[in-house]
Amino acid sequence: MPLLQNTIATMTYDAWIIDGYVDEPTCLGVPPYISPYVRTVAGVLYEHGYNPGYCTIDQIRTDTRYLREMNQASLAVCIAGMTVPGTYLGGTPASLLEISQIAQALTHPTTCLSGPILFGAAQAGGNLATPIDTENTGCNIHLPGSPAESLHEHLSGTEPTGKFSYQLQDQFAYKGSKIITKHPSFPNIIAEIETARGCERYESGGCSFCTERFYGAPIYRDVQAILAEVSALSQAGCIHFRVGRQPDILAYQTTGQNKPNLDALEQLFSGIRTHANTLKTLHIDNVNPGTITAHKEISKEALEIIIKYHTPGDTAAFGLESADPAVISANNLSVMPDEVLDAIEIVTEIGGKRTDGICELLSGLNFVCGLAGETKETYIKNKEFLKEIQKRKLLIRRVNIRQVMPFPGTKSYVEHTLGQHKEAFIAFKEWTRTEFDTPMLAQVFPIGTILHDLIIEKEGTLSFGRQIGSYPLLCGIPLQMKERTTCSVVIIGHGKRSVTALPYPIPINTLPLSALRHIPGLGKKTISKFFAKRPKNAEEFTAIIGPSPLATLCEYHY
Ligand code: SF4
Repeated sequence: MPLLQNTIATMTYDAWIIDGYVDEPTCLGVPPYISPYVRTVAGVLYEHGYNPGYCTIDQIRTDTRYLREMNQASLAVCIAGMTVPGTYLGGTPASLLEISQIAQALTHPTTCLSGPILFGAAQAGGNLATPIDTENTGCNIHLPGSPAESLHEHLSGTEPTGKFSYQLQDQFAYKGSKIITKHPSFPNIIAEIETARGCERYESGGCSFCTERFYGAPIYRDVQAILAEVSALSQAGCIHFRVGRQPDILAYQTTGQNKPNLDALEQLFSGIRTHANTLKTLHIDNVNPGTITAHKEISKEALEIIIKYHTPGDTAAFGLESADPAVISANNLSVMPDEVLDAIEIVTEIGGKRTDGICELLSGLNFVCGLAGETKETYIKNKEFLKEIQKRKLLIRRVNIRQVMPFPGTKSYVEHTLGQHKEAFIAFKEWTRTEFDTPMLAQVFPIGTILHDLIIEKEGTLSFGRQIGSYPLLCGIPLQMKERTTCSVVIIGHGKRSVTALPYPIPINTLPLSALRHIPGLGKKTISKFFAKRPKNAEEFTAIIGPSPLATLCEYHY
């Protein structure tokens, strides 16, 4: 990895940012995502005259030189914490044990810890989070609340409180944007853009499991400040953006009751296009389905605005959490199942349009299991909900099923049903993966769909790659592909949560037998004939395989 070697060999840094990755209901910072926390903390360090280095927890795991370098610096700030843990392909978040080991190894710099890890830590969903103190992290200082503000207070000689305000935060975001160039995957990273902090449901107590209410009542970020940051990121070379750090993008700058503010959305999304005119990806994340059903017509207009400026293949993640009204009530969840169905219908109608074969914007669904009030019946209701989506022929980009990770200070820390319905949970997950996901993938990404700019993340006889974006589709390519290379692929088959793909155009004359056998229509009898005498054109391809959208997507030459 030349970038890593250059960083270590040629630069001396007086402070380091350790990116332990974050994943919260409203913020993602696991590669390829780089979180706003990392960038604003960099801004604070620049502001205070430091020349900060940056590395990820994955780099520390694989190269001991990072810790040696850090021991020459005076300050090391680690940002970490998962409050809604998922499964990650791009990196593995720092565990509490790793953080304490790093703190122990860093004998010279002052070690600071910040981010959602200060709410608590556990290895995976389904476990209670352990409360955090300097005893179990081994760090010298904990920076509570907003990482940037807290660090700024500490470096200014006052007690860190992390009290948040966009006045300061916006300056730090602007100043810190250039840190992205130090990410080992740069420029193949996606900047998570913040538009709000705190949830609109703060007053009503929020959802029982959610840590977003620890950030207080919602504060929306000024459009011009966001655009200034986007411009600085673009100048630093950022080409992938996700407007993801907020509970509900449709409620951005709402004028009341979450009613979409169309002027603000227009200014925001058109402005991003203008201020980052070389961008390749502009996606969103969370949308509250309750906003859509409460303000149907204006929400449709809001979705149209997003679609006008974003890039296709986008996902609006809906937090359904449970389709059981008893669980919804026991956990103060935000929407009822029929409202979510209506919202999915609207998003399918508006966002299901295709550009170059790719749907513009689809809903994503989140289930959280192990919540208070759950029974075996809950899983039947969850399944019925998904069957209703199938019955209505609605489109969904993906279904996330997680077990709650209860945090100290949340209602679910004392009231939950973890471990009580394990069999029903496993059966529901399995049913969803086989009976729902695979046919849905075939509808959303039919055979013959071409995906461009796929980045190979795992090399092997079966290589894996994804595009950069919101919930990108995992593609398994039955060929040895070089890691970190970029290619275009054609979808040729569907798995549980991934697809099988071949390079586009399909090099039909040179594919090995191991790859040929994945082409739909090639059976036991035809494959050896096909292998021995490759088709010279689409007609010959069709004569052997039968009518197929792949016939015109092959490269034929002898
Ligand atoms: S809607 Fe619920 S889960 Fe989403 S941010 Fe608000 S409190 Fe958290």
